[in-house]
Amino acid sequence: MINGKIWLSSPTMHGDEMKYIQEAFDTNWVAPLGPNVTKFEQEMASYIGIKAASATVSGTSALHLAVKLAGVKPGDVVLCSDMTFSATVNPISYENGVQVFIDSETDTWNMDPRALEKGFEKYPQCKCVVCANLYGTPAKLDEIRQICDAHGAILIEDAAESLSATYKGRQTGTFGQYNGISFNGNKIITTSGGGMLLSDNTEAIQKAQFWATQARDPAPWYQHSELGYNYRMSNIVAGIGQGQLGHIEEHKALKKKIYDTYLAGFADIGAISMNPYLPCSQPNHWLSCMTVDPQKSEVRPLQIMEELAKKNIESRPIWKPMHLQPYYAKNDFITLSGGGPSVGDEVFATGLCLPSDIKMTEEEQRTVIDTIREMV
Ligand SMILES: *Cc1c(COP(=O)(O)O)cnc(C)c1O
Repeated sequence: MINGKIWLSSPTMHGDEMKYIQEAFDTNWVAPLGPNVTKFEQEMASYIGIKAASATVSGTSALHLAVKLAGVKPGDVVLCSDMTFSATVNPISYENGVQVFIDSETDTWNMDPRALEKGFEKYPQCKCVVCANLYGTPAKLDEIRQICDAHGAILIEDAAESLSATYKGRQTGTFGQYNGISFNGNKIITTSGGGMLLSDNTEAIQKAQFWATQARDPAPWYQHSELGYNYRMSNIVAGIGQGQLGHIEEHKALKKKIYDTYLAGFADIGAISMNPYLPCSQPNHWLSCMTVDPQKSEVRPLQIMEELAKKNIESRPIWKPMHLQPYYAKNDFITLSGGGPSVGDEVFATGLCLPSDIKMTEEEQRTVIDTIREMV
């Protein structure tokens, strides 16, 4: 409990982050780039098991660079996750590409590979796919990558919420040709704000870094043959990241404990299910979520949210699917059934993100569980 409130997911600092910040001050590396940035990139790449990484000001900017590397041009169709945060798909618009949303499946709530296949039938010219691992649960990544490869499309994995989660023993953020992660304030580790682009293609990462540092040509004066961006992470921020990375497994274990406690706490309530995952994957359980079966209970997620709020407990509806967003009203949406409510519609209507803050005590989580049990 911080400031008397139980949070969905708030930053958890350990103090050793300050050491790296102090170093940056002592050496006057108070700038974008610097030794903390380089070390943070190397340490993260080695933790994830990928060749190259480039630290950015945000996860969104990392995904934008990924979309540029994938070569998305104005008018190009990009097949992408529907049930996700808008930052997964907005960068496609930065390059004037056109999002076509792919419905979720019920095993992980992520992009349905069968619906993706349908998407390629309708848009055989598509050369890029963006897939997110929602709430830290890996998607059906092998199937999705295979389908992309079969159609000659580049996969961008949005692992912003799933850093440290594994699929068949391999870290998320390694399944796409280009992958993005985030260190925003609410993520499993945080730098206050920041992100990273990950790839096994070292040249591509160098190109992205060139764009991210204003696309300066090698000339004595400022000369630009390409459009640049100011997207690189600062040395101070990277210091926080280095300190946080040392605690990532600890954070993951605490998140799992929270999920397992909810699972046990609702086990005898038939109307409640926790967000599902594949046996071959180990989510990072960034956010624990539940759904309430409308056939078995009258109570709606928003009523639960309001009841929790009365006790100063933060919860949040499931991310509203992109096909329901006013901004994307004109974009196509592909479902397996081709009609009726989509999987995304149903999860959105019945689901709720529960407090998953790793500083929440057992007693506090008990209050959350009891409050919900009384209602459902
Ligand atoms: C947080 C998030 C992002 C964006 O990361 P920022 O660092 O906030 O820009 C992208 N995709 C998903 C799924 C996210 O949850």
